[in-house]
Amino acid sequence: HSSNPSPIVVPGQTIGMLGGGQLGRMMILEGRRLGYRFVVLDPASDSPAGQVADEQIVGAYDSPMAIEQLMEKSDLVVYEFENIDPDTVRMIESIKPLPQGSDLLCWTGHRGQERKVLQDAQIPIASYQVVTSKAKLVEAIEQIKLPCVLKVLTGGYDGKGQWVISTLDDPFPPAEIIEKGILVEKFVPYVKEISVIVARGISGEMEVYPPVMNIHRNQILHMTISPAPIKEGIRERAEQIAYRLANQLQFVGVLAIEMFVLADGTILVNELSPSPHNSGHITMDTTNPCQFEQFMRAVTGLPLRKSVRKNTGIMVNLLGEHQEAFFEQFAKLPSCAKVHLYGKSVARVGRKMGHINFVGDSLSDLLELINEMSIWEP
Ligand code: ADP
Ligand code: MG
Repeated sequence: HSSNPSPIVVPGQTIGMLGGGQLGRMMILEGRRLGYRFVVLDPASDSPAGQVADEQIVGAYDSPMAIEQLMEKSDLVVYEFENIDPDTVRMIESIKPLPQGSDLLCWTGHRGQERKVLQDAQIPIASYQVVTSKAKLVEAIEQIKLPCVLKVLTGGYDGKGQWVISTLDDPFPPAEIIEKGILVEKFVPYVKEISVIVARGISGEMEVYPPVMNIHRNQILHMTISPAPIKEGIRERAEQIAYRLANQLQFVGVLAIEMFVLADGTILVNELSPSPHNSGHITMDTTNPCQFEQFMRAVTGLPLRKSVRKNTGIMVNLLGEHQEAFFEQFAKLPSCAKVHLYGKSVARVGRKMGHINFVGDSLSDLLELINEMSIWEP
């Protein structure tokens, strides 16, 4: 591959963004440092990304008029999150440069496709089946054996659209959801959840971030610990999986790979995400460049930078329910606590309002500090 690709947009040109969420906001903050301009399309006005963009178009992602407007104002288009309709992206990429492409969205936006891609790359995953009727669902559960996890094929996030089935008496999804197709998957008795973020540029160059460990609460990411406290051999295998997958998919941008680590050291891949990821937010304060700068470099055709870790860190998410306690302590937070707020005005339970990166030399000191704060009661 060529090590010196020429950028497809240069500073001063405008990048159009599908989606106005926090990922987009953090992409734009990095992209602005590199001199790019941004126009965001989001159905809600005053969106987190729209607030830091040069301009926001308020409109639906499937509105031809809104898409037309976005393309008119942009030299290049990106998407910032995964639940964007691949057909919309396909239409745009036939007219404007859209380096991430629609394929990546198809592979990661449908849990059945995702598993096919992983199997094609010979990457180990939990046993699964896709069914479309209650009768087939019960059959699948009998073959896979309880406990199982049921997941909607499209549109799920933060544990939404999931049912853990431990006995056949547990609540099942309603028939109309099963009929759209549902994934039945073996419940994995993992000891750790880790993730690896890999950036891939237009010329095929890749940068892999070392694995981090993720702790979920109510299936929403609560905390990320960097670097993951895992054996060297597991780290190596996790990174190999990331390289293998990135090579297979030939995507451009940033891909996050969520993995389960079992007691015997086996790694099973759980989920792929076609953009910078919540578990990569810790790179903003521990690693240079962070996942958002690397993303901007990949999509604009700038060379990727070798990522260098400066310190250890712990990211903790601020959800709607944490906001009040957080603001009480905001003024007295120690300097090792780097606050990132997303500019969302309405705090709902489970809604990601921001995150704090705690950085330092000792993970145990940071954990102690976090536990002493009364923001995240267990
Ligand atoms: P999403 O992040 O899109 O909501 P995931 O498939 O990543 O969906 O599931 C969310 C969380 O639920 C995972 O991070 C993990 O903690 C738990 N989970 C998902 N699938 C399984 C499984 N097969 N076995 C055990 N836990 C699971
Ligand atoms: Mg996930």
